[in-house]
Amino acid sequence: MGAYVKNVIDNLRSVLGELVEIREGLIRLIIPNLAKYTQGKRLEPRWAPVFYNPLTTTSRDLDTLVVEAYRNIYNPKARLCDLLSATGVRGLRYLVESRVERVTLNDVDERAYKLMKANALLNEVEDRVAIYNLDANLLLNILVRKRQRFDIIDIDPFGTPVPFIDSALRTVKDGGMLSVTATDLAPLLGVKSSACLRKYQALSMNTSFSREIAVRILMGYVCRQAAKYELAIIPAFSYSLSHVIRIHILVKRGATRANESLKRMGYVRYCRNCGYRDLVEEYPIVSSKACPRCPHETSIAGPLWVGSLWDSEFVDEVRQVYRERVYLHNKCLSNLLRTIYRESRAPPLYYSTKELSRILGVREVSPKELVKRLRNRGLFACRTHFDTKGFKTNAALDTINDLVLSIVEGDRRAA
Ligand code: SAH
Repeated sequence: MGAYVKNVIDNLRSVLGELVEIREGLIRLIIPNLAKYTQGKRLEPRWAPVFYNPLTTTSRDLDTLVVEAYRNIYNPKARLCDLLSATGVRGLRYLVESRVERVTLNDVDERAYKLMKANALLNEVEDRVAIYNLDANLLLNILVRKRQRFDIIDIDPFGTPVPFIDSALRTVKDGGMLSVTATDLAPLLGVKSSACLRKYQALSMNTSFSREIAVRILMGYVCRQAAKYELAIIPAFSYSLSHVIRIHILVKRGATRANESLKRMGYVRYCRNCGYRDLVEEYPIVSSKACPRCPHETSIAGPLWVGSLWDSEFVDEVRQVYRERVYLHNKCLSNLLRTIYRESRAPPLYYSTKELSRILGVREVSPKELVKRLRNRGLFACRTHFDTKGFKTNAALDTINDLVLSIVEGDRRAA
């Protein structure tokens, strides 16, 4: 470390307290000493003067792959804005690992601003980084007035991204990508449904496949916000990992295209009695709540995105980038990418073996076994990254139920 950088970091200690240097991916990073911010054994990164969560490293690893895939397919000279940077970890990793041309880092907190400046110096990339200390919406509004737009805008807040979506849509280039995190899972998973209605203007649902509904609500929210600016959205890559939901979407200009996007809006119908679920492409109003399978009424979630959550060719490219990034190889990421790859070609809305066992009143069967049996029947079936007990299939619910019962019956006979 040069004497100048060392001096900068030493001066920061008076503002930020104890600092430590770590490595994440290919970058070096100065962060607050997290050992000082714990409750019992649990880390409380939000108590630190600048936020950094080591538990979300896998999500950042994956996102560096997604950004590189975008760069490879659409624009090798992509410029990116990491709108809520904290330490600058994302932006700096996209610059060094995903090889975007330039990044803009920003945080409203002055301590974060100082720290990300030091981190840019530490990685010797300061000539390709612009750093701001402004409210995120103010920054984007100033830049768009100066006709400075971005190929990629990454919105990674704690909690909901809703306050930043509007400005980001107006500032992203035609054909650019918005990458959006949501960690406000209680509203999106239907645990605090009134908060979901307030923030996303959508009904969430607390059920066995809520994770997929949550991603679809977030996607649908962005779609509706985009439509008023005559922008269309095209999902490239989505996932849910621990307490993080993340969507990467392409944004394209044009009223006709925006109308096409709105055709991918609709609702989830779910029958709590028999387990039937479907997506209805009806927006803004859903016409029937009747369950097509039993005399009950379905519960409704939405409005939400009913189209695909992935572009399977984009997912292919992400996997290709992963193969070449040997330093990121680990079991968790490999499994996640393999599962998402299959899932990107699957029908929507997963089932869970736990829920099937509850409805049928039998013991839980292994999702692996069930997927195998569905495939043996010539049907499509795969696991889902949303839930370890989940699977997706084009089989009718009657067929799924028959197979569950036959597995349970077979076990009983064998016993
Ligand atoms: N992207 C980071 C985490 C960011 S945490 C990572 O991957 O580690 C969210 C950050 O947003 C915090 O540092 C907070 O100071 C900043 N922030 C919150 N509201 C903001 C606003 N209105 N404008 C700019 N920054 C904001």
